[in-house]
Amino acid sequence: MNEPLQITHFIDGRFDASSAEWIELINPATGSSIGQVASGTSADVDRAVAAAARALPSWRAKSPTERGALLHRLADLIERDVELLAAAECRNSGKPITLAREVEVPRAAANFRFFAECASRFGFEERLENDQSESLVIREGAGIAGCISPWNLPLYLFTWKIAPALAAGCTVVSKPSEVTPVTAWMVGRLAIEAGVPPGVLNIVHGLGAVVGSAIVAHPNIPVLSFTGSTSVGESIARTTAPLFKRVALEMGGKNAAIVFADANLEAAADGVVQSAFRNQGQICLCTSRVVVERSIAPRFTSMLIERTASLRSGDPTSPSTQQGALVSSVHRDKVLLAIQCARDAGARVLCGGRAVPPESLPASCQGGYFVEPTILAGLPSHCKTNQNEIFGPVVSLLEFKDEPEAIEIANDSMYGLAASIWSSDAPRVDRVARALEVGIVWNNCWMVRDLRTPFGGTKRSGLGREGGDDALRHFTEPKSVTRSKA
Ligand code: NAD
Repeated sequence: MNEPLQITHFIDGRFDASSAEWIELINPATGSSIGQVASGTSADVDRAVAAAARALPSWRAKSPTERGALLHRLADLIERDVELLAAAECRNSGKPITLAREVEVPRAAANFRFFAECASRFGFEERLENDQSESLVIREGAGIAGCISPWNLPLYLFTWKIAPALAAGCTVVSKPSEVTPVTAWMVGRLAIEAGVPPGVLNIVHGLGAVVGSAIVAHPNIPVLSFTGSTSVGESIARTTAPLFKRVALEMGGKNAAIVFADANLEAAADGVVQSAFRNQGQICLCTSRVVVERSIAPRFTSMLIERTASLRSGDPTSPSTQQGALVSSVHRDKVLLAIQCARDAGARVLCGGRAVPPESLPASCQGGYFVEPTILAGLPSHCKTNQNEIFGPVVSLLEFKDEPEAIEIANDSMYGLAASIWSSDAPRVDRVARALEVGIVWNNCWMVRDLRTPFGGTKRSGLGREGGDDALRHFTEPKSVTRSKA
């Protein structure tokens, strides 16, 4: 891939030749420019919607197997280009290359394969009968789907949205994050190669407040899927409510890992550290509160500190790097400010707590946005540090005396995305899992996924669910046709 990049909109099966306005793209590991992305307008969204509308009738009329064949082809091409895509993701977002290569890019291919298969078994038509009537329930693609995705897992979450929309028979107008648009742009090129018909997948780049808002408010886009912050999700809910759009919102989190004294502590410490710091803590599912049973707190805390201190921060392109850069200087500053607020509130900083000193980084990365993986302790549950999403490599330790208190602390949040329970007592795990006010619970693991399970959160973390049939239901409109037996 040649740099500097010039990333333009992908509309009606073609890339625009140029753009009137551009946004600079920065490699967060170096602080240097890698190119520019088009800064789109509502007129660009209108063009994309017009192309998607032209493509809709024939795409919707294809069988799930025909649509699935194209999705499998896209998956094949992603697998072929795994190295290119991983390198691009690493350069555009600062994440470690191994994470991109071994987890995120393969998952993007898996998203297309999974929904191709899922759609082939989905009940697009169902016959129901009772004493008085026979009904045919028809579910067809709901129309043009607007898919808006964030910067933290750019390719993984972009494909997690467009794959079910396309499999369901929708055509798509998508908007990747303006911070990390590179791999979505590469998917546009693969869509041409795969033979995806023009207009079926459209990608409009640009600012959320301009392009994102235009997609959200567009009268010809009846169904939306958004992943991002709760504040933007809230504004989308406000705009779309009077328009009666179908909206799925995947938003922020403040996830707890609850560690009971009966857990395998070695495994729990490994798992909690991974859950706190993978992708520099920039995953909505990351643990940000570690809630530990008091009797084991001193020992478990030492285990966490030892493991966290040994994480290697550095050049994300190096296969041995475990902690890359945060996505932008703005985000780095936000995370450092959150750490400072915690200090001001009386937190003890048990590990990390600063930007990575430039002299400990390779010369090429000394202008990058690195923050040390950080463990805080000593703050009450209700304080800002334990309530507000930080979305960086920062965890806060809290202690509990018994099971009810563990549940109370874990649920003391306006968010309700995910939690993990580290315990070997199965009845207890069952009780606690049922009591937690979240959409996703893991036991003795983290981020292990069966793509058929519903994915999403409660409270201010989410509205609706992604994954499996839930996603296909979201992107289809049901109609029942009933005839009387009389
Ligand atoms: P963000 O809300 O700033 O942006 C997300 C996307 O929405 C981007 O493409 C952005 O351009 C667009 N956008 C911004 N303003 C918009 C508007 N007014 N109208 C329409 N679109 C708009 O979020 P971010 O900073 O990119 O991502 C981090 C956030 O995403 C965190 O809060 C994190 O928890 C959340 N997240 C949630 C999940 C989940 O599954 N629940 C997954 C990943 C990230």
